[in-house]
Amino acid sequence: MQSLELHSANASRPDVAILGGGLSGRLVAWQLVRAGLRVALYERGGADGSAAAGWVAAAMLAPLAEAAVAEPSIVAMGAAGLEQWPFLLEGLPDPVFFQRNGTLVVWHQPDRSEAVMFDRRMRANAPPELLRGGVERLSGQQLGNVEPALAGRFQEGWLLPNEGQLDNRQLLKSLGAGLQKAGAELHWHTAIDEGNVPDAGLVIDCRGLGARPVMPSLRGVRGEVVRIHAPGIGLRRPVRLLHPRYPIYIAPKENDLYVIGATELESEDMSPMTVRSALELLSAAFSLHPAFGEARILELNVNCRPALPDHLPRVQWDGKRTLRVNGLYRHGYLLAPAVTGEACALAQALLGGATAGRTLDWDTWRAGRPWPDLFRQTEA
Ligand SMILES: Cc1cc2nc3c(=O)[nH]c(=O)nc-3n(C[C@H](O)[C@H](O)[C@H](O)COP(=O)(O)OP(=O)(O)OC[C@H]3O[C@@H](n4cnc5c(N)ncnc54)[C@H](O)[C@@H]3O)c2cc1C
Repeated sequence: MQSLELHSANASRPDVAILGGGLSGRLVAWQLVRAGLRVALYERGGADGSAAAGWVAAAMLAPLAEAAVAEPSIVAMGAAGLEQWPFLLEGLPDPVFFQRNGTLVVWHQPDRSEAVMFDRRMRANAPPELLRGGVERLSGQQLGNVEPALAGRFQEGWLLPNEGQLDNRQLLKSLGAGLQKAGAELHWHTAIDEGNVPDAGLVIDCRGLGARPVMPSLRGVRGEVVRIHAPGIGLRRPVRLLHPRYPIYIAPKENDLYVIGATELESEDMSPMTVRSALELLSAAFSLHPAFGEARILELNVNCRPALPDHLPRVQWDGKRTLRVNGLYRHGYLLAPAVTGEACALAQALLGGATAGRTLDWDTWRAGRPWPDLFRQTEA
């Protein structure tokens, strides 16, 4: 049995203090405030979310395409998360662009071996029920019918018809507005370190890479993306271009906006994008469709994905009063509904148990959850 040291209820103290108001922090706050808890959120950046890794992300929700680079538990959590997104978005005050038009995977003929590898890895990591009806092989002709903008440009491809994407910036903004309306205490431009942790029944640390002082094995993986405005091309869904050196995706948002990404570099350097990366990303986009040559570059963005050594997410409990939600790495949007939903379930069980004077049996709790390995008491 695990003994709790949660602070007892107090009218002037929030039930939960959330450190970090990026992707996971806002989502945890939103779910807990909707569950009737008193929530305070502390974010070192502003209400727009621009200090978060979640601000620069493409926010593709692609469990099958990610299966080519991620292990089965990520794929399973991601598939569940994709189904949960519409329910999470439902109660938000402002609309958030969300679509499930699928992912298109294409390659230039000299790179065909990349497609064979991608297919093998995807099939090794994805469960049969996701693959069934989840991958359609397309001839060049069929590809043109599905994605008219690419008609005549590729000899073959795959459509993964069930995959989705959303607009990350609209989401962060709408979550901020929703939290405000719901009466959460919002402390923007407030950095929290180990010396000024706020008083609350339970503390949930969602600081991404900012949690490294207390999670030493956390590391940043640099990612660079370009935002462009390209009227007239009209891609209907995210497209992944396989390439041995420069695999890229192009994710269309509303109003002819496209996010081209992303590099993945073992570095925590947050300095501006290199010329090399800009050339690689933009050349690959140009090779997908020459009309991207006329696009206007709006932003060249950089941030670091918060990753643990095994590249798996964690909901970590210190056995006292702190939960840490981290390690979302390159799948934050894909995994966030499942991971933050599980973190909220644990938070509610801990707070409910403390109020009733009960202790939580940690092993029984874990064993009863869909992804027990998500829950840890140490980083290892
Ligand atoms: C280039 C790029 C592309 C990506 N594309 C995708 C994609 O297509 N699909 C997908 O699923 N995922 C994608 N991701 C991954 C996703 O963005 C991350 O997994 C996700 O943002 C991590 O969420 P988080 O809440 O843990 O961290 P963050 O979103 O970084 O939020 C952490 C927050 O904590 C705040 N903070 C830090 N330190 C402190 C402190 N001391 N006090 C107070 N606040 C603090 C930060 O300001 C930040 O707002 C991408 C990431 C990058 C970088």
